[in-house]
Amino acid sequence: MNTHQRTNHILAMCQELGFDNAGIAPAEPTRWSEQLRQWLASGKHGEMTYLAEHVELRVDPTVMVPGANAIICVAHRYHSGGPDRCDPSSREGRIARYARGKDYHKVMKQRLHTLCDELSQRYPEERFRACVDTAPVLEREHAQRAGLGAVGKNTLLIQPGRGSYLLLGEIITTLSLETSDSLQDHDPCSTCTRCIDACPTDAITPWSVDATRCISYLTIEHRSEIDAEYHEAIGDWIFGCDICQEVCPHNQPTRRSRTQRIDEAYSERHTGFDLLDVLNWSESDRREAFSQSSMKRAKLGMMKRNALIAAGNKLRTKDDPQLRERIHQLASDDTQEPIVQQTAAQIMAAHTEAAQKKAPD
Ligand code: SF4
Ligand code: SF4
Repeated sequence: MNTHQRTNHILAMCQELGFDNAGIAPAEPTRWSEQLRQWLASGKHGEMTYLAEHVELRVDPTVMVPGANAIICVAHRYHSGGPDRCDPSSREGRIARYARGKDYHKVMKQRLHTLCDELSQRYPEERFRACVDTAPVLEREHAQRAGLGAVGKNTLLIQPGRGSYLLLGEIITTLSLETSDSLQDHDPCSTCTRCIDACPTDAITPWSVDATRCISYLTIEHRSEIDAEYHEAIGDWIFGCDICQEVCPHNQPTRRSRTQRIDEAYSERHTGFDLLDVLNWSESDRREAFSQSSMKRAKLGMMKRNALIAAGNKLRTKDDPQLRERIHQLASDDTQEPIVQQTAAQIMAAHTEAAQKKAPD
């Protein structure tokens, strides 16, 4: 097989494995090394200290796989962009759409490893390294170079005609492959600023997100108390946030995008969890609720912290005596983790203050 045939064969294999899109990027260093270093230096990665480690690997795929020639980039679409089924008037705390189905790390890794195994057998002298999310790889830039989409002002990869509800994976390889038509210089946003205007914490400046302000970071990565400044903005999110995707014009369903299939693995098992249930969870309840889910990284104390903030926000608009009572109990329950007790106390204090402001003089 020549390089052209080999490339087409590999792209066909990606399709057979169920990936919605695949392309080949050159294994070249990032164009955004300086911006990445500035972002890290200004502390916008918060407690995600792993992002500041292995920067040399992150900015150049040939450091991770010496002699790398190409990156096989794949994408799974996990949501159609249709309206959220979660009822905002219910007691449910919402989770981001990517976490509503099976753990995508496992789904994608399994398929990428199948591909790596087949390619290793066929090309035993070459190297193949599969990466999904956790490896130090600037996956959106590689995906853009592979023609899978273009990065928008909200920093997410947008595939023309399909939107940004995409999960990405890569195989870095020493194998010589033909690179796909790049979308490197494509701007999917033009004059649009909807995501910037809609972000409740003002975390987005065009093509950069301050993670320390982002609800996804605060609810998933941040391990300690969340500054009260962000509580109201967090709304009913208890794991992640989709607002900058919900408002994006590329994610509004069209006649064409409605008919595109979503892999069975990502069908929604739940849109969220009942807040009172979460506030009553034991560790084994959390494990059971998160089985086969990518939500496992959120520990019990973090989930209760998030549920307390969402519960406090629900109580702003509608009284719920059971929720109110549970917040009171948690504030004085010494068996709870400090983060839970402290957040419960913060929520109670905010409510007392709000009630005093409302009371007639
Ligand atoms: S995920 Fe939410 S908080 Fe984070 S940038 Fe998008 S809209 Fe803002
Ligand atoms: S909402 Fe508008 S500005 Fe933001 S990513 Fe989508 S197209 Fe770009």
